[in-house]
Amino acid sequence: MTSLSLERVRKSFGKHEVIRDIDLRIEDGEFIVFVGPSGCGKSTLLRMIAGLEDVTGGDLNIGGRRMNEVPPSRRGVAMVFQSYALYPHLTVRENMGFGLKVRKVPKAESAAKVAQAAEILKLDALLDRYPRELSGGQRQRVAIGRAIVASPEVFLFDEPLSNLDAELRVHMRAEIAGLHRRLGNTMIYVTHDQIEAMTLADRIVVLRDGLVEQVGTPKELYENPANTFVAQFIGSPK
Ligand code: ADP
Ligand code: MG
Repeated sequence: MTSLSLERVRKSFGKHEVIRDIDLRIEDGEFIVFVGPSGCGKSTLLRMIAGLEDVTGGDLNIGGRRMNEVPPSRRGVAMVFQSYALYPHLTVRENMGFGLKVRKVPKAESAAKVAQAAEILKLDALLDRYPRELSGGQRQRVAIGRAIVASPEVFLFDEPLSNLDAELRVHMRAEIAGLHRRLGNTMIYVTHDQIEAMTLADRIVVLRDGLVEQVGTPKELYENPANTFVAQFIGSPK
């Protein structure tokens, strides 16, 4: 089943056309990675899916529903950002439960969801700590935990590991792959790191100047890059 589709989606900031004309279908449970050079429109595209930016033109459908005008909280998506954006004055437990509190979810249900996310992310022992008492990797896990607690249909990640050191990045990459196997949700993941893209993706979407250059599995892109741009980006020998 189709989880998400973009039909002729465009985005302009004033006269600056950032996303030019994007068609894309993403199936339920797919791990999709957007790659492309800085400024090509990856974050803008993700933010439009999340509802954090308006769509200038075209249709954005999630779960078979047109979402162009639907507010972020009703799209069934949760986003994890590069900067963790945790509340400094709240504990890990409170940070993870915050969205549920806002939505007036009963306390027992909220506590159960936070406990489940903490277990998945091995945060059980850290629930009463404050963000300043955590390492970078632990903070990013809390940010992912917050997304899990929201029980979204679709997870959106915008370069979630780029503030971490190389060793931790490798570790967290494996955790995110494990999370996808365990939860089975659709995930859309933005990175400019080729290795991350090649190891995580079911399919990679290569973007350039607001257009899709090529879509395919890591193997397809590696073996049959559509052009030199894709080949160079993917590190293909051709
Ligand atoms: P990426 O995430 O691929 O690096 P972005 O989606 O952040 O790229 O940005 C794509 C282009 O859109 C860039 O030229 C950027 O300067 C521009 N842009 C992004 N957000 C805004 C905004 N709020 N107002 C004006 N221009 C923006
Ligand atoms: Mg970006």
